Amino acid sequence: MDLIPNPDSPHSDNSGGHSSPQQFASSSSSTGTSTGGSSSSPSLSRYESQKRRDWNTFGQYLKNHRPPLSLARCSDAHVLEFLRYLDQFGKTKVHTQMCPFFGHPSPPAPCPCPLRQAWGSLDALVGRLRAAYEENGGKPESNPFGAPAVRLYLREVRDLQSKARGVSYEKKKRKKPQQDRRHPPLPPAAT
Ligand SMILES: [Zn+2]
Repeated sequence: MDLIPNPDSPHSDNSGGHSSPQQFASSSSSTGTSTGGSSSSPSLSRYESQKRRDWNTFGQYLKNHRPPLSLARCSDAHVLEFLRYLDQFGKTKVHTQMCPFFGHPSPPAPCPCPLRQAWGSLDALVGRLRAAYEENGGKPESNPFGAPAVRLYLREVRDLQSKARGVSYEKKKRKKPQQDRRHPPLPPAAT
């Protein structure tokens, strides 16, 4: 199961209702108004659907917790527990200090260092869950995802990973990878 890094499949596996119909080539006689509402189908943004998926994952985590946890009793310690739990699904190699590749951005050979969740993924995840928590009735002042301990943890992960991987996570000024689709850049208009 890959829980969190769900790279780019837009549908969750069990969303249902998307059995691609291949039968419309067979009969074109059904001249109905059957496809009236197709344009208003709920298409969540990438961020929104990812947030929903993350929230479900977290809910699942709470449910499987021993003893089970209610959202109201979820503290920053549980959030940290959750983030550490996710590391087992990580795909980012983080070298230990003993590793000869410590600090190498692209090691020339494999090594037994553990795979972790990349800091950037965790940071984005916490942001989404923080928003989802409040959208699901949580009080902002008790939002465990915004707790100082969580912020501190993320900062530690960032520092550790940037040292271990020789990669700087300082914010670079670079262009955003995705372009705004509703506003494609206009070609230079010759006026
Ligand atoms: Zn290593």
